[in-house]
Amino acid sequence: MFAERLTQWPASRVEDLIAQCGAHDVARVLERPARSEGDLAALLSPAAVPFLDHLAGRARALTRQRFGHVMQMYAPLYLSNECSNRCTYCGFSQQLSIARKTLSIDEIEREAKHLRQLGFRHVLLVSGEFASIVHGDYVQAAVRAIRPFFSSISIEVAPFPAQTYAQWIDAGVDGITLYQETYDRPAYQSVHVAGPKKHFDKRLVTMDDAGRAGFRTLGIGVLLGLAPALRDLFWLGLHARHLAHTHWRSRIAISFPRIRPMAGSFATPFEVTDTQLLQAICAMRLWMPDAELVLSTRESPALRDALAPIAITKMSACSATSPGGYSVATASGEQFAVEDRRSIVQVQSALAAAGLESVFKDFDASFLQPMGGA
Ligand code: SF4
Repeated sequence: MFAERLTQWPASRVEDLIAQCGAHDVARVLERPARSEGDLAALLSPAAVPFLDHLAGRARALTRQRFGHVMQMYAPLYLSNECSNRCTYCGFSQQLSIARKTLSIDEIEREAKHLRQLGFRHVLLVSGEFASIVHGDYVQAAVRAIRPFFSSISIEVAPFPAQTYAQWIDAGVDGITLYQETYDRPAYQSVHVAGPKKHFDKRLVTMDDAGRAGFRTLGIGVLLGLAPALRDLFWLGLHARHLAHTHWRSRIAISFPRIRPMAGSFATPFEVTDTQLLQAICAMRLWMPDAELVLSTRESPALRDALAPIAITKMSACSATSPGGYSVATASGEQFAVEDRRSIVQVQSALAAAGLESVFKDFDASFLQPMGGA
């Protein structure tokens, strides 16, 4: 379990390790694969800033070697903005007065058809965390309804027991995303003020449950800005390697969301600059050469265009962050403001200009079926 590993790395130990890193540590890790926690610390540390060009070059070379010149495209489909949690940074937080909506299965199908017409074959079903509204059977029904339209379906909803995960996998889900948001316990407690998500340890075990259930992709991330970024990224790197080693049949996906404006007011405690984000993404590529690195439309077109050819392997485009945001007339509250509002054609041509082919289908659930005898 990752919880045990995390206790071996309290904040003071992580900060000491990062502070001790010098230029020679960074130069050494740039010459060979990153193996130890010291290597991860060196890549994330301020000592690596003067090496940023070199770091980006290594990240780019590794990404092209492992993934080719392609970018996997996906779109989020929001099922519901009901939430039983109070997360002070989120537009769905329970106490906010926003228009709440949970899509019917017909509405989900309409959204799915819209995304399919745009060309998407990979979809991420997202919802607020309200387990009695967006429950196991509802998710299962949604997945079965949209399965004909997509080759890959992932989910980002509340944590559920492994038994429910097994049912979703059977229905056609192949990926799961669940962010710890921050691995810094005091920071976690200060922003998760009410609801089941308050329980740090319960959330921490979820991805191990998901790995045991057999999801093909396990997606993790921190919400950059909630806690000092370097130690959160260090813990994120530890978590990623733990999952890769423990659930070796699954691919690990890592996201780098930064806090965005939303319906409430939230002052970001620890701003993360564009340069720090670039360093974090490059460091994670060197630490996890085979991981999917994901960038959403939270970031600006210019920054997405700059980061895409370096180490990103999966991007969303023309995203709506409210339930029914693509095709349902009734307005409902969005989770956060989207920064990149370009059309799919505009995103594709920007990727093409960077030498990347946007890929909409590189997987089909039928790949996972056992081979039949003749
Ligand atoms: S971050 Fe997730 S759990 Fe928290 S309020 Fe937003 S939707 Fe709900």
